[in-house]
Order: sequence, then C-alpha cells, then structure tokens
Amino acid sequence: MKRRDLLKASVTAGAAAGGLLAAPAIARAKDTFNWKMTNMYPAGAPFYTVGPGSPTDFCARVKEMSDGRLNIQHFAAGELIPPKEGFDAVRSGTIEMNAGNAYYWAGKIFAAQYFTTVPFGLNFQGVNAWMYHAGGLELWNEVYADYGLTALPMGNTGVQMTGWFKKPIESVKDFDGLKMRIPGLAGKVYEKLGVAVKLLPGGEIFPALERGVIDAAEFVGPFQDRRMGLHKAAKYYYTTGWHEPSNVTELLMNKKAWDSLPKDLQAIVKSCAQACNLDSHAWSEANNADALTDLVTNHGVIAQTLPDAVVAELKTLTEQVLAEKSAADPLTKKVHDHFMAFRDKHRSWAAISEKPYQGMISS
Ligand code: CA
Repeated sequence: MKRRDLLKASVTAGAAAGGLLAAPAIARAKDTFNWKMTNMYPAGAPFYTVGPGSPTDFCARVKEMSDGRLNIQHFAAGELIPPKEGFDAVRSGTIEMNAGNAYYWAGKIFAAQYFTTVPFGLNFQGVNAWMYHAGGLELWNEVYADYGLTALPMGNTGVQMTGWFKKPIESVKDFDGLKMRIPGLAGKVYEKLGVAVKLLPGGEIFPALERGVIDAAEFVGPFQDRRMGLHKAAKYYYTTGWHEPSNVTELLMNKKAWDSLPKDLQAIVKSCAQACNLDSHAWSEANNADALTDLVTNHGVIAQTLPDAVVAELKTLTEQVLAEKSAADPLTKKVHDHFMAFRDKHRSWAAISEKPYQGMISS
C-alpha cells in the first residue's frame, strides 16, 4: 500500500471508529431538552415551590429519571414573570411549563375552575378517580386544546379549612357584612350571604386580617396557615373545607413543546407528575395533623365545625351559584355536567365506604 492509501485507510478507519463512538453522544445532544418552568407561588414556599412533591421536586425527579435529557429550570413567582402571567407565557411558547392552579385562569376560561376545586365537589380520592379514570383529564385537555395548551395534575393540598374568623359563626346571619378573603366559586356563594369578598394574594392576608381590613380569611390548612401567622390575627378556625374539598396543582404545558418530546420523556413527565400528586398530598396530610394540634394546644386556637344549619345553607347556595354560572356558556355547562355526574357517582360510593368508616373510627 502506498503511503497515501495508508493515510486514507487510517482516516477512514478512524472516522468509522469515531463515528461508532460519537453516534450515541450526537443522538443524545439532539435529544436533550432545556426547558423553563415558571411558578405562580413565591420562592421557598413548602408544597408550592419546595419540598416533597413540589414543582422543584418534580423538576429534579424528571432530570434524574431522564439522565439529564429533560432539564427543567424552575423560576418562582416574580423571578422571570409576574405570578399570574404563566398562562399567556406558556401559550406563547416563551416558556414551556407553569406550575399553579387552573382556577386562576377563570377570567379567560370560566370552566378551568372545575379542574382545581369545586365547592362541595370531589375530595383527593374523588378528583384523582375523575381525572385519571373517568375522563376528567381528557376533558381538561379538550378545554385547553383551543389555546395550544395541555395540562396534568401535579399536586394536591387535600381538604382545606373553611378559614379564620375573628368572631364565631353561629348562624348564616353572622356572615352578613363580613369582609373575607376567599378566591374561586366559593366567593360567589358567600356573596349571596352578604359577604364582601376580597381577592388578596397569600402574602397580604395576615396584615389585612391583623389590621381589621378583613374580618375573615381562608388560605389552605393548618400547616400553611400557621406558616402565614393567621392564628395571631384570628382565633376561630372553622373546618372543614366545603369550599375546597381538595385543590389540584396544575402542570400547564405548551402543547407544541409537549408534542416535540420523545415518548420516553413524555412518560417520565407523566409519571413524575403523578408521583408528585401523591407525594405532595401525603406530605400535606402528615404536616397538617401536627400543625393543627400545635395551633389548638399552644396557640389558643378554637377549631370547630360550622353549625349544621350553616352548612345546609351553603350547600343550597352552592347549587344555585353553580347552576347560574354553568348556564352562562356551553363549555362550562359541558364541564359542569361531566364533573357533577362523576361527583354524584363518587358520593354514593363514599356514602357506603368512607363515610361509615369515618363514623366507626370517630365514635
Ligand atoms: Ca384555599
């Protein structure tokens, strides 16, 4: 072989060998996705941004399971965009993912509220059954399809608390004239009882309650409410969360970006979202138990249920509000009817399973 041929042969062999070695690395580089997730909650908030089952935990799980092929950079509220701009940012494709709650998009899509919580609606078990195995998730994505969006449940607070009141609630008359912080459909119910509804962000609840700008407030449950110091501003703590029997954390995604992911990465996202849905709820249940004991034992909080007559009236008014609102547009009506059909089915099962069990263990 002439020297020139030798050189050519060695170059060819080297390229082949190099090619064999480089092929997976090249495929891998092409197959690596660097995404951004914004969050409507502030940095350092347990459950909402940090801790087991939180959005940052979700990002870490996805990175680990995909061996770094899907790398999602998390931005807490205000770090990249203001808290409630996630919907538009994800829709435009500026960012790929947003963590928050669908009921904050009620101004754009009224029906979106049904995918966070409904007063006297589904608890954690019920909402998961509806979402995963009774068409709820498909319906959610049908609603979002026109916006180029897709969503998954990624967390749940579990049942919340009615909230904090400066004076006891003995009858529905005690609501008349109260100024209360409460978001969502439940606010419309309270309005019918003469409550002046205030839509304050989380961070403004404590100072407003302490200064008497508001007389009552709901936030989440014992752990989160204690963290905000709400027990220092009001002592009557009513249970249980008729207004939010569970509360779904939304993983909102740009549909084009989602479709661009290979099937294995989509499977990882789905599994991690499901894992965080479970883990965030388990964490909430574990911490709420201790926090409520501490509030009652060490902070003079009076925790009690609302009188039966008050609950009955709230239930009647909720049915009225939902009937009025769902009649307003066909999409809301479709979601409402789907949700209610499953709620009634789940309620009848709970009536002969969970309800007697709770009765057995509390008596
Ligand atoms: Ca709440």
